[in-house]
Amino acid sequence: MNTTGLLEVTAVRRVTPRTVRVTFTGDGLGELEPWPDQQLKLLFPPPGRPVRLPSPDDDVMRWYQAFLAIPEDERPVMRSYTVRDRDPARAAIDVDFVLHDASRHDGPATGWARSAAPGDVLGRYGPDATYRRPVPIAGTVVIAGDETAVPAAATLLSEVDNALVFLEVPDAAEEQPLPGEVRWLHRDGAPHGKKLLEAVRGASFGPASAAWLAGEAGMVRSLRRHLVGERGLDKRVIEFTGYWRRELTQDDAPTSEDLADAREKLGG
Ligand SMILES: Cc1cc2nc3c(=O)[nH]c(=O)nc-3n(C[C@H](O)[C@H](O)[C@H](O)COP(=O)(O)OP(=O)(O)OC[C@H]3O[C@@H](n4cnc5c(N)ncnc54)[C@H](O)[C@@H]3O)c2cc1C
Repeated sequence: MNTTGLLEVTAVRRVTPRTVRVTFTGDGLGELEPWPDQQLKLLFPPPGRPVRLPSPDDDVMRWYQAFLAIPEDERPVMRSYTVRDRDPARAAIDVDFVLHDASRHDGPATGWARSAAPGDVLGRYGPDATYRRPVPIAGTVVIAGDETAVPAAATLLSEVDNALVFLEVPDAAEEQPLPGEVRWLHRDGAPHGKKLLEAVRGASFGPASAAWLAGEAGMVRSLRRHLVGERGLDKRVIEFTGYWRRELTQDDAPTSEDLADAREKLGG
């Protein structure tokens, strides 16, 4: 299947006050292999311009070089998202966009999602099976994340039936029906990740458990530190991804902590 192409919006709906579900169709989506936690890069065109895609290429590095070679004023902004649902018969996928705190400056992806409408066109790279993350396997699988991790957690829950799931969202209105039992934590103004960490700390599961963690990078780091340092989980059975960084955009350079996380992921 094509890993890159155009996506056209066919439907937009609010599933919670802060979550916009966008349905896209596009070439290749009908042949998308099913696996949970599918990640893709969305390409947002500069305002008022069509999206310009790097020439199709199956090699991700060459594709990325071609992306960087697009003149800056025409180059799309690239952001990572998750396939929330798929409909192969219609060659369609759903992506859930969290509209984060409107009092701050919207990033390009969030700004786009706020006013997305049928007919809008984005580019995509992925989902690419090369970057498929293994689903953790153990007697108990701890799944923990913030609102940006809800789409991936939803797809994982369809596959993992022995999960202990903790999802922290801004308030009760952000809960969504998911396949499985979820412990929802409502931030209700508390610092991001505080209630999630407290809930995971207070839960009973043994050191033979595995884990899947995603959301704000500092929060993911604290959860991982707790699971490895205080609960004795083996690092190798913890799948973790910092999805976004406080005060930093996805275009900003990695911090020393991001680089250390990347080394850990590579097993270094
Ligand atoms: C593999 C992967 C899968 C992801 N899947 C999803 C998904 O399915 N749905 C989804 O909504 N997000 C998802 N994310 C997170 C999303 O990519 C980021 O939130 C991204 O920064 C949004 O881009 P932006 O252009 O709106 O903001 P950026 O331009 O990247 O950042 C602008 C400002 O917004 C802040 N910011 C960014 N995200 C948040 C947030 N969630 N809450 C509060 N402040 C924020 C930044 O700190 C910065 O100050 C995923 C990330 C990864 C790596």
